[in-house]
Amino acid sequence: MSATPDAAGRGDSPHLIDRHGRRARDLRVSLTDRCNLRCTYCMPADGLDWQPAGELLTDDELVRVITVAVQRLGIEEIRFTGGEPLLRKGLAGILARVGALRPRPELSLTTNGIGFARRADEFVAAGLDRINISLDSLDADTFERITRRRRLPDVLAALEAAATAGLTPVKINVVLLRGVNDHEAPDLLRFALDHGYQLRFIEQMPLDAGHIWSRERMVTADEIQQRLSARFDLTPDPGARLGEPAELFRVDGGPATVGIIASVTRPFCGDCDRTRLTADGQIRTCLFSRAETDLRAILRGGGPADRIDEDIARLWRATTWGKLPGHGIDDPSFLQPDRPMSAIGG
Ligand code: SAM
Ligand code: SF4
Repeated sequence: MSATPDAAGRGDSPHLIDRHGRRARDLRVSLTDRCNLRCTYCMPADGLDWQPAGELLTDDELVRVITVAVQRLGIEEIRFTGGEPLLRKGLAGILARVGALRPRPELSLTTNGIGFARRADEFVAAGLDRINISLDSLDADTFERITRRRRLPDVLAALEAAATAGLTPVKINVVLLRGVNDHEAPDLLRFALDHGYQLRFIEQMPLDAGHIWSRERMVTADEIQQRLSARFDLTPDPGARLGEPAELFRVDGGPATVGIIASVTRPFCGDCDRTRLTADGQIRTCLFSRAETDLRAILRGGGPADRIDEDIARLWRATTWGKLPGHGIDDPSFLQPDRPMSAIGG
């Protein structure tokens, strides 16, 4: 569904503000909808119908949109994601070009880590500042049961390589699934503490292509806290939340922390500072949006460069102004977005 934004009443701020008082500073860019894993909570076993190459933004188009976001709209952080962003051939070049922008945005990557180990130094040299690596189990069989691929050693190598390359603190994202890996929560935290990684649990969200999510089966933030508390002393770290979706807890008095991102049971929409760009050039104001705004048509429509950039900026501002106050998962009329997480950019 395409949106027709209405910016009446927003004033003339250059930034991405909305009518609920929020400002987007953090842009999530999906570089591809493809992936080399098939996590059960994200993708079907057979994958999806990948978007045709011609529909994806080229590297030049992507850098151009990001330049508008940084220089005209006040975006301060760019996080590259997907699908699996390491599958994007031009990734190092894109990082280098975006890292050369002034003001320079912070550059980060959310990845499953496969293939990262041998390219960590290249990405850091290109400008990568921070990384989140997804790891749901330390047991090879459980890892395979969740991701449908036997690639645990690749992910462990990616974590080590990221730390060695100086991308510290390396963050780990975990999704817990009831009866599959939820018993591993304390072991995953022990592993992270021992290696100096920062662990964050993400509540499973209704964004999977197979529509297997159910509120009854999802592992809640409360349960995660309980499971961890059996082995660790957790105390809330109140100062730490600013601009972070994760609620942080000090572990055994600190300084180490663990995060819980409770998008479903403790939504943080009121503090949301994100905006999203899909690999095919659509803006989404929220992971759960059911509407998108097409930038690709403007990019490919021809005309003077400055006018194209200004049209993109204007449309993005208007779209953001109409951002809904919350994702509405708790609303009885909630409908899962048509695109799964892997095609939006998680
Ligand atoms: N492929 C990369 C990865 O797995 O890190 C980047 C894309 S992935 C969609 C981004 C993050 O979203 C991962 O940490 C993944 O575990 C998480 N994720 C995927 N589907 C999810 C869901 N239904 N609920 C909660 N988190 C999910
Ligand atoms: Fe791929 Fe990431 Fe989705 Fe897993 S969560 S299937 S690694 S995009």
